[in-house]
Amino acid sequence: MKSKGYAALTKTSSLTPFDFERREPGPKDVVVEILYSGICHSDIHQARDEWGGSIYPMVPGHEIVGKVTAVGNEVSKFKVGDLAGVGVTVETCMACENCLAGAEPYCTKGMVGTYNAKDYAGNPTYGGYANNIVAPEHYVYSISPKLNLAAVAPLLCAGITTWSPLRHWNVGPSSKVGVVGLGGLGHMALKFAHSLGAHVVQFTTSESKVADAKKLGADEVVITKNPDDMAKHAGSLDFIVDCVSAPHNLNDYLKLLRLNGTLCLVGLPEVELPISPFAMVTNRRSLAGSMIGGMKETQEMLDYCAEHNIVSDIELTTVQKLDEAYERVIKSDVKYRFVIDMASLNA
Ligand code: NAP
Ligand code: ZN
Repeated sequence: MKSKGYAALTKTSSLTPFDFERREPGPKDVVVEILYSGICHSDIHQARDEWGGSIYPMVPGHEIVGKVTAVGNEVSKFKVGDLAGVGVTVETCMACENCLAGAEPYCTKGMVGTYNAKDYAGNPTYGGYANNIVAPEHYVYSISPKLNLAAVAPLLCAGITTWSPLRHWNVGPSSKVGVVGLGGLGHMALKFAHSLGAHVVQFTTSESKVADAKKLGADEVVITKNPDDMAKHAGSLDFIVDCVSAPHNLNDYLKLLRLNGTLCLVGLPEVELPISPFAMVTNRRSLAGSMIGGMKETQEMLDYCAEHNIVSDIELTTVQKLDEAYERVIKSDVKYRFVIDMASLNA
Protein backbone atom coordinates (compact mmCIF):
# COMPACT_ATOMS: atom_id res chain seq x y z
CA MET A 1 0.00 0.00 0.00
CA LYS A 2 1.44 3.38 -1.01
CA SER A 3 1.99 5.87 1.82
CA LYS A 4 3.54 9.27 2.22
CA GLY A 5 4.77 10.88 5.37
CA TYR A 6 7.69 12.51 7.13
CA ALA A 7 10.74 10.56 8.23
CA ALA A 8 13.98 10.91 10.13
CA LEU A 9 16.65 9.54 7.76
CA THR A 10 19.46 9.60 10.36
CA LYS A 11 19.67 10.49 14.03
CA THR A 12 20.81 14.01 13.24
CA SER A 13 18.72 14.82 10.15
CA SER A 14 15.62 17.01 10.00
CA LEU A 15 12.33 15.25 9.42
CA THR A 16 11.78 15.21 5.66
CA PRO A 17 9.08 14.14 3.18
CA PHE A 18 9.20 10.39 2.59
CA ASP A 19 7.27 8.08 0.22
CA PHE A 20 7.10 4.44 1.27
CA GLU A 21 5.16 1.18 1.02
CA ARG A 22 3.14 -0.44 3.78
CA ARG A 23 2.04 -4.06 3.61
CA GLU A 24 -1.17 -4.78 1.72
CA PRO A 25 -4.14 -5.09 4.14
CA GLY A 26 -5.19 -8.66 4.95
CA PRO A 27 -8.58 -10.07 6.04
CA LYS A 28 -8.15 -8.98 9.70
CA ASP A 29 -6.76 -5.50 8.88
CA VAL A 30 -8.21 -2.02 9.08
CA VAL A 31 -6.88 0.82 6.90
CA VAL A 32 -7.06 4.25 8.52
CA GLU A 33 -6.68 7.56 6.72
CA ILE A 34 -4.74 9.56 9.32
CA LEU A 35 -6.22 12.96 10.14
CA TYR A 36 -4.23 13.85 13.27
CA SER A 37 -1.06 12.51 14.81
CA GLY A 38 0.31 13.48 18.24
CA ILE A 39 3.97 14.20 18.96
CA CYS A 40 5.18 12.11 21.92
CA HIS A 41 8.54 12.72 23.56
CA SER A 42 9.28 9.06 22.72
CA ASP A 43 9.24 10.12 19.04
CA ILE A 44 12.12 12.49 19.78
CA HIS A 45 14.06 9.96 21.90
CA GLN A 46 13.80 7.45 19.04
CA ALA A 47 14.25 9.78 16.03
CA ARG A 48 17.49 10.96 17.70
CA ASP A 49 18.48 7.44 18.76
CA GLU A 50 18.69 8.42 22.43
CA TRP A 51 17.66 4.91 23.55
CA GLY A 52 19.94 3.13 21.03
CA GLY A 53 19.01 0.69 18.25
CA SER A 54 16.91 3.06 16.16
CA ILE A 55 15.93 1.88 12.67
CA TYR A 56 16.08 4.38 9.76
CA PRO A 57 14.37 5.69 7.78
CA MET A 58 11.93 6.24 10.68
CA VAL A 59 8.40 7.60 10.33
CA PRO A 60 7.56 8.38 13.98
CA GLY A 61 4.09 8.75 15.47
CA HIS A 62 1.99 6.49 17.70
CA GLU A 63 -0.89 8.78 18.66
CA ILE A 64 -2.99 8.30 15.56
CA VAL A 65 -6.62 9.14 14.80
CA GLY A 66 -8.51 9.21 11.55
CA LYS A 67 -11.19 7.59 9.40
CA VAL A 68 -11.48 3.99 8.32
CA THR A 69 -11.11 3.71 4.52
CA ALA A 70 -11.06 -0.09 4.12
CA VAL A 71 -11.64 -3.22 6.21
CA GLY A 72 -10.70 -6.86 5.63
CA ASN A 73 -13.50 -9.40 5.26
CA GLU A 74 -12.92 -10.81 8.79
CA VAL A 75 -13.17 -7.39 10.48
CA SER A 76 -16.27 -7.01 12.64
CA LYS A 77 -15.76 -3.90 14.82
CA PHE A 78 -15.26 -1.31 12.05
CA LYS A 79 -16.81 -0.21 8.80
CA VAL A 80 -15.67 2.33 6.22
CA GLY A 81 -16.20 5.89 7.50
CA ASP A 82 -15.86 5.08 11.23
CA LEU A 83 -13.51 7.13 13.39
CA ALA A 84 -10.59 5.02 14.60
CA GLY A 85 -7.34 5.27 16.53
CA VAL A 86 -4.03 3.42 16.57
CA GLY A 87 -1.56 3.64 19.45
CA VAL A 88 1.89 2.30 20.30
CA THR A 89 1.31 -1.41 19.59
CA VAL A 90 0.49 -3.07 16.25
CA GLU A 91 1.35 -6.75 16.81
CA THR A 92 1.80 -9.18 19.72
CA CYS A 93 1.78 -13.00 19.93
CA MET A 94 -1.76 -13.19 21.42
CA ALA A 95 -0.82 -16.57 22.92
CA CYS A 96 1.47 -15.87 25.90
CA GLU A 97 0.10 -15.45 29.42
CA ASN A 98 0.57 -11.67 29.32
CA CYS A 99 -1.27 -11.25 26.02
CA LEU A 100 -4.04 -13.56 27.25
CA ALA A 101 -4.32 -11.42 30.40
CA GLY A 102 -4.84 -8.28 28.29
CA ALA A 103 -1.33 -7.01 29.03
CA GLU A 104 -0.15 -7.04 25.41
CA PRO A 105 2.66 -4.45 25.85
CA TYR A 106 4.39 -7.07 28.02
CA CYS A 107 4.04 -9.84 25.38
CA THR A 108 6.80 -12.39 26.08
CA LYS A 109 7.54 -12.71 22.34
CA GLY A 110 7.94 -8.93 22.24
CA MET A 111 5.35 -6.38 21.24
CA VAL A 112 5.80 -4.77 17.83
CA GLY A 113 5.85 -0.99 18.04
CA THR A 114 3.90 1.12 15.57
CA TYR A 115 7.23 2.47 14.26
CA ASN A 116 10.98 1.90 14.77
CA ALA A 117 10.32 -1.85 14.89
CA LYS A 118 10.13 -4.93 12.67
CA ASP A 119 6.92 -6.94 12.59
CA TYR A 120 6.94 -10.72 13.06
CA ALA A 121 7.31 -11.13 9.27
CA GLY A 122 10.48 -9.00 9.41
CA ASN A 123 9.10 -5.88 7.73
CA PRO A 124 9.83 -2.43 9.17
CA THR A 125 6.90 -0.62 10.80
CA TYR A 126 6.17 3.03 10.02
CA GLY A 127 4.18 5.35 12.27
CA GLY A 128 1.63 8.10 12.18
CA TYR A 129 3.39 11.10 10.63
CA ALA A 130 1.81 9.85 7.42
CA ASN A 131 -1.38 9.84 5.38
CA ASN A 132 -2.47 6.28 6.23
CA ILE A 133 -1.79 3.18 8.30
CA VAL A 134 -2.78 -0.48 8.18
CA ALA A 135 -3.17 -2.42 11.42
CA PRO A 136 -4.98 -5.55 12.61
CA GLU A 137 -8.40 -4.81 14.08
CA HIS A 138 -7.22 -5.94 17.55
CA TYR A 139 -4.88 -2.89 17.70
CA VAL A 140 -7.40 -0.36 16.38
CA TYR A 141 -9.71 1.56 18.73
CA SER A 142 -13.17 3.02 18.33
CA ILE A 143 -13.26 6.79 18.80
CA SER A 144 -16.35 8.65 19.93
CA PRO A 145 -17.53 11.44 17.59
CA LYS A 146 -18.48 13.41 20.73
CA LEU A 147 -14.88 14.52 21.36
CA ASN A 148 -12.59 16.93 19.48
CA LEU A 149 -10.78 14.43 17.24
CA ALA A 150 -7.42 16.25 17.18
CA ALA A 151 -7.39 16.38 20.98
CA VAL A 152 -8.17 12.65 21.20
CA ALA A 153 -4.94 11.68 19.38
CA PRO A 154 -2.66 12.01 22.46
CA LEU A 155 -4.94 9.69 24.44
CA LEU A 156 -3.53 6.82 22.33
CA CYS A 157 -0.17 7.08 24.12
CA ALA A 158 -0.04 9.87 26.74
CA GLY A 159 -3.55 8.94 27.86
CA ILE A 160 -3.23 5.18 28.22
CA THR A 161 0.33 5.36 29.62
CA THR A 162 -0.91 7.38 32.59
CA TRP A 163 -4.37 5.80 32.90
CA SER A 164 -2.96 2.27 33.17
CA PRO A 165 -0.79 2.77 36.31
CA LEU A 166 -3.44 4.94 38.01
CA ARG A 167 -5.92 2.09 37.57
CA HIS A 168 -3.41 -0.69 38.38
CA TRP A 169 -2.54 0.98 41.70
CA ASN A 170 -6.24 1.63 42.44
CA VAL A 171 -6.11 5.40 42.60
CA GLY A 172 -9.43 6.76 43.81
CA PRO A 173 -11.09 9.25 46.16
CA SER A 174 -9.01 8.21 49.18
CA SER A 175 -5.66 8.54 47.35
CA LYS A 176 -3.13 11.33 47.60
CA VAL A 177 -1.29 11.26 44.27
CA GLY A 178 1.80 13.09 43.04
CA VAL A 179 2.34 13.78 39.33
CA VAL A 180 5.91 14.68 38.38
CA GLY A 181 6.36 16.77 35.21
CA LEU A 182 3.57 18.68 33.52
CA GLY A 183 4.13 17.66 29.90
CA GLY A 184 2.11 15.52 27.51
CA LEU A 185 1.94 12.52 29.83
CA GLY A 186 1.90 14.58 33.03
CA HIS A 187 -1.11 16.68 32.09
CA MET A 188 -3.09 13.51 31.30
CA ALA A 189 -2.00 11.91 34.61
CA LEU A 190 -3.22 15.05 36.36
CA LYS A 191 -6.58 15.07 34.55
CA PHE A 192 -7.18 11.36 35.18
CA ALA A 193 -6.09 11.35 38.85
CA HIS A 194 -8.34 14.36 39.49
CA SER A 195 -11.24 12.77 37.61
CA LEU A 196 -10.83 9.53 39.62
CA GLY A 197 -11.33 11.61 42.77
CA ALA A 198 -7.76 11.69 44.14
CA HIS A 199 -6.13 14.64 45.91
CA VAL A 200 -3.44 15.58 43.39
CA VAL A 201 -0.12 17.30 44.00
CA GLN A 202 1.51 18.42 40.73
CA PHE A 203 5.31 18.74 40.72
CA THR A 204 6.84 20.98 38.06
CA THR A 205 10.09 22.75 37.23
CA SER A 206 8.13 25.42 35.31
CA GLU A 207 6.75 28.33 37.32
CA SER A 208 4.80 29.37 34.22
CA LYS A 209 2.64 26.21 34.50
CA VAL A 210 1.33 26.70 38.06
CA ALA A 211 -1.96 28.39 37.11
CA ASP A 212 -2.64 25.81 34.39
CA ALA A 213 -1.93 22.93 36.77
CA LYS A 214 -4.66 24.24 39.09
CA LYS A 215 -7.09 24.62 36.18
CA LEU A 216 -6.30 21.06 35.06
CA GLY A 217 -7.26 19.73 38.51
CA ALA A 218 -4.24 19.99 40.83
CA ASP A 219 -5.13 20.54 44.47
CA GLU A 220 -1.57 21.67 45.17
CA VAL A 221 1.36 22.62 42.93
CA VAL A 222 5.02 22.34 43.97
CA ILE A 223 7.90 24.04 42.17
CA THR A 224 10.50 21.32 42.46
CA LYS A 225 13.45 23.70 42.45
CA ASN A 226 12.40 24.82 45.93
CA PRO A 227 13.61 22.26 48.55
CA ASP A 228 11.45 23.74 51.33
CA ASP A 229 8.28 23.26 49.28
CA MET A 230 9.32 19.67 48.48
CA ALA A 231 10.02 18.94 52.17
CA LYS A 232 6.48 19.98 53.13
CA HIS A 233 5.18 16.84 51.36
CA ALA A 234 7.63 14.36 52.93
CA GLY A 235 6.04 11.01 53.79
CA SER A 236 2.58 12.07 52.61
CA LEU A 237 1.81 10.59 49.18
CA ASP A 238 0.27 7.18 48.43
CA PHE A 239 1.31 7.06 44.79
CA ILE A 240 3.50 9.07 42.45
CA VAL A 241 3.53 8.83 38.67
CA ASP A 242 6.81 10.17 37.30
CA CYS A 243 6.39 11.53 33.76
CA VAL A 244 9.77 13.24 33.33
CA SER A 245 11.71 12.77 30.09
CA ALA A 246 15.15 13.87 31.34
CA PRO A 247 17.52 12.83 34.15
CA HIS A 248 16.33 13.93 37.62
CA ASN A 249 16.74 12.85 41.24
CA LEU A 250 14.28 10.04 42.06
CA ASN A 251 15.27 10.03 45.75
CA ASP A 252 13.74 13.49 46.17
CA TYR A 253 10.37 11.94 45.18
CA LEU A 254 10.74 8.58 46.97
CA LYS A 255 11.05 10.54 50.22
CA LEU A 256 7.57 11.98 49.65
CA LEU A 257 5.89 8.53 49.81
CA ARG A 258 4.07 7.43 52.95
CA LEU A 259 4.11 3.87 54.36
CA ASN A 260 3.78 1.32 51.50
CA GLY A 261 3.70 4.09 48.90
CA THR A 262 4.72 3.48 45.27
CA LEU A 263 6.64 5.64 42.82
CA CYS A 264 5.83 4.49 39.29
CA LEU A 265 8.09 5.56 36.44
CA VAL A 266 6.53 6.11 33.06
CA GLY A 267 9.08 8.66 31.86
CA LEU A 268 12.07 7.13 30.07
CA PRO A 269 15.20 9.28 30.38
CA GLU A 270 18.06 7.70 28.43
CA VAL A 271 20.39 7.31 31.43
CA GLU A 272 20.38 5.23 34.63
CA LEU A 273 18.99 7.02 37.67
CA PRO A 274 20.66 6.40 41.08
CA ILE A 275 18.53 5.12 43.97
CA SER A 276 19.24 5.63 47.68
CA PRO A 277 18.50 2.39 49.61
CA PHE A 278 17.56 4.57 52.60
CA ALA A 279 14.88 6.35 50.58
CA MET A 280 13.45 2.90 49.72
CA VAL A 281 13.51 1.02 53.02
CA THR A 282 12.14 3.95 55.01
CA ASN A 283 8.35 3.60 54.88
CA ARG A 284 8.66 0.24 53.02
CA ARG A 285 8.42 2.04 49.68
CA SER A 286 8.17 0.53 46.19
CA LEU A 287 9.66 1.72 42.93
CA ALA A 288 7.78 0.50 39.85
CA GLY A 289 7.43 1.13 36.15
CA SER A 290 4.64 0.87 33.62
CA MET A 291 4.50 0.72 29.81
CA ILE A 292 1.54 2.06 27.80
CA GLY A 293 -1.43 -0.28 28.42
CA GLY A 294 -3.35 -3.25 27.05
CA MET A 295 -5.80 -3.07 24.16
CA LYS A 296 -8.91 -3.62 26.28
CA GLU A 297 -7.91 -1.05 28.89
CA THR A 298 -7.06 1.44 26.12
CA GLN A 299 -10.61 1.15 24.77
CA GLU A 300 -11.93 1.47 28.35
CA MET A 301 -9.85 4.65 28.79
CA LEU A 302 -11.19 6.09 25.51
CA ASP A 303 -14.76 5.27 26.55
CA TYR A 304 -14.17 6.86 29.98
CA CYS A 305 -12.87 9.99 28.22
CA ALA A 306 -15.97 10.15 25.99
CA GLU A 307 -18.22 9.77 29.04
CA HIS A 308 -16.35 12.34 31.16
CA ASN A 309 -15.46 14.72 28.32
CA ILE A 310 -11.70 14.36 28.79
CA VAL A 311 -9.22 15.14 25.98
CA SER A 312 -5.70 16.52 25.80
CA ASP A 313 -4.86 20.21 25.77
CA ILE A 314 -3.22 20.56 22.38
CA GLU A 315 -1.44 22.93 20.04
CA LEU A 316 -2.00 22.05 16.39
CA THR A 317 1.07 22.05 14.17
CA THR A 318 2.05 20.97 10.66
CA VAL A 319 4.52 18.54 9.10
CA GLN A 320 6.49 21.55 7.88
CA LYS A 321 7.12 22.63 11.49
CA LEU A 322 8.16 19.29 12.99
CA ASP A 323 11.74 20.30 13.81
CA GLU A 324 10.53 23.42 15.59
CA ALA A 325 7.91 21.39 17.49
CA TYR A 326 10.59 18.91 18.64
CA GLU A 327 12.79 21.75 19.94
CA ARG A 328 9.86 23.24 21.82
CA VAL A 329 8.95 19.88 23.41
CA ILE A 330 12.55 19.52 24.62
CA LYS A 331 12.34 23.00 26.17
CA SER A 332 9.06 22.00 27.94
CA ASP A 333 7.41 24.74 25.90
CA VAL A 334 4.15 23.14 24.79
CA LYS A 335 0.74 23.29 26.42
CA TYR A 336 0.53 20.39 26.58
CA ARG A 337 0.79 18.25 23.45
CA PHE A 338 1.58 19.03 19.82
CA VAL A 339 -0.76 17.37 17.35
CA ILE A 340 0.05 17.38 13.64
CA ASP A 341 -2.80 18.30 11.31
CA MET A 342 -2.09 15.71 8.62
CA ALA A 343 -3.88 17.83 6.01
CA SER A 344 -0.58 19.75 6.00
CA LEU A 345 0.97 16.82 4.08
CA ASN A 346 -0.86 18.12 1.00
CA ALA A 347 0.16 21.77 1.46
P1 NAP B 1 7.10 15.99 27.57
O1 NAP B 1 5.79 16.46 27.03
O2 NAP B 1 8.34 16.56 27.05
O3 NAP B 1 7.02 16.15 29.16
C1 NAP B 1 8.11 15.91 29.99
C2 NAP B 1 8.05 16.89 31.18
O4 NAP B 1 9.12 16.57 32.05
C3 NAP B 1 8.27 18.34 30.81
O5 NAP B 1 7.11 18.98 30.39
C4 NAP B 1 8.78 18.92 32.12
O6 NAP B 1 7.69 19.21 32.98
C5 NAP B 1 9.55 17.74 32.73
N1 NAP B 1 10.98 17.89 32.52
C6 NAP B 1 11.64 18.04 31.34
N2 NAP B 1 12.97 18.13 31.54
C7 NAP B 1 13.15 18.04 32.89
C8 NAP B 1 14.29 18.03 33.73
N3 NAP B 1 15.53 18.17 33.23
N4 NAP B 1 14.12 17.89 35.08
C9 NAP B 1 12.87 17.76 35.59
N5 NAP B 1 11.75 17.76 34.84
C10 NAP B 1 11.89 17.90 33.51
O7 NAP B 1 7.24 14.40 27.37
P2 NAP B 1 6.08 13.29 27.31
O8 NAP B 1 5.70 13.07 25.90
O9 NAP B 1 5.08 13.58 28.32
O10 NAP B 1 6.93 11.99 27.72
C11 NAP B 1 7.53 11.92 29.00
C12 NAP B 1 8.44 10.70 29.07
O11 NAP B 1 7.62 9.52 29.07
C13 NAP B 1 9.40 10.55 27.90
O12 NAP B 1 10.65 10.09 28.40
C14 NAP B 1 8.74 9.49 27.05
O13 NAP B 1 9.65 8.77 26.25
C15 NAP B 1 8.14 8.60 28.12
N6 NAP B 1 7.04 7.76 27.67
C16 NAP B 1 6.92 6.54 28.25
C17 NAP B 1 5.88 5.73 27.94
C18 NAP B 1 5.70 4.43 28.64
O14 NAP B 1 5.01 3.53 28.11
N7 NAP B 1 6.25 4.25 29.81
C19 NAP B 1 4.94 6.13 26.98
C20 NAP B 1 5.06 7.39 26.41
C21 NAP B 1 6.12 8.20 26.77
P3 NAP B 1 7.67 20.56 33.87
O15 NAP B 1 7.82 21.70 32.90
O16 NAP B 1 6.36 20.49 34.54
O17 NAP B 1 8.81 20.43 34.84
ZN1 ZN C 1 4.29 7.88 23.23
